[in-house]
Amino acid sequence: MKWGLIGASNIAASSMIGAFRSFGSDQVVSVLSSNAERGRAYATEHGIADAYADLDRMLADPALDAVYISTTNEKHFPQAMAAIRAGKHVLCEKPLAMNVADAVAMVHAAREAGLVFATNHHLRNAGSHQVIRDLVRAGRIGQVQSLRVFHAIYLRPQLQGWRIDNPMAGGGVVADIAVHDADTVRFHLDESPVDVVAMTAATGLGKGVEDNAMSIWRMPSGVQVFCHVSFTHPHAGSGLEIHGSDGSIIARNVMTQRPTGQVELRTKDGVEVVEFDPRNLYAHGVGMFREAVAGRGRPAADGEDGIRSLAVANAILAAGQTGQRMTVDYGG
Ligand code: NDP
Repeated sequence: MKWGLIGASNIAASSMIGAFRSFGSDQVVSVLSSNAERGRAYATEHGIADAYADLDRMLADPALDAVYISTTNEKHFPQAMAAIRAGKHVLCEKPLAMNVADAVAMVHAAREAGLVFATNHHLRNAGSHQVIRDLVRAGRIGQVQSLRVFHAIYLRPQLQGWRIDNPMAGGGVVADIAVHDADTVRFHLDESPVDVVAMTAATGLGKGVEDNAMSIWRMPSGVQVFCHVSFTHPHAGSGLEIHGSDGSIIARNVMTQRPTGQVELRTKDGVEVVEFDPRNLYAHGVGMFREAVAGRGRPAADGEDGIRSLAVANAILAAGQTGQRMTVDYGG
């Protein structure tokens, strides 16, 4: 399969080019950058044949099967629509768009064109999250009562650009991190929040955007979810806990890009350490995308998952801004 990169980004360089190439060396054939010189330098550095500054020219390549969109968030919508019009399958970074209506439009357009559309929510590809989901499904903790997710990190200095000072590009910790947590919670509980309350704050890095947010979500089953995200916590570590009538799952350092962490099951019988497959999260997602293109199964996180995670993130932001409980609007 031949991929084009829309966006000469850090995440493509650090994680995705390697994930694509794990399926064969000819996988990444072109890259688009708004700056022609930077695009050429990026292509040279990463061994990519073609660099483009014009999206339509890049998409005119008939050899291109799919695009991976990892520009800043406000560009995802127009770029995805152009790729769909050109008949390319789309793997799009989160959040899919700046608003739910645009996300719905892109997902519907791909569906109507018969193209695979996926959201790059990496966490559900982790072996750790797979075993957590399996434990919940197997009834090992009984009736689920609550879920707590801790995803407060320190934003690496090289990422302290648009994320901390540009709301027009989709900056802020909610669009960056809570959106992943919304997807992960949905993956574990198989339901989507009805409404949320939240407080957001700027605690040192955010300039015009929030860098810390605490929120509580109400699920249709009545389960309560607590979510803490931050850019300013160097020593907190991450974690996810699911508490049920017969047990608790305690997972540490699993809200990460790497296949790390520990998962424990606590029941009346004691504490069991649960082993999991330390597979590469991004390569696993690309593998599922390739299978979906070949007509086998669905992507790890599809377009509908991306709409839902964005809707939750936007409800958290609205709740933080208004101080009101916000119903999550999934766009009908
Ligand atoms: P970057 O800041 O690295 O890239 C975004 C854009 O900024 C690029 O498309 C590029 O524009 C421009 N850019 C990048 N580096 C430079 C530079 N040195 N000088 C000038 N311009 C530059 O963003 P990220 O890789 O951190 O994030 C991109 C997207 O991926 C976002 O939507 C984000 O939410 C998502 N993401 C997802 C992750 C996941 O695990 N699923 C993890 C990290 C990010 P141009 O292309 O025009 O050259």
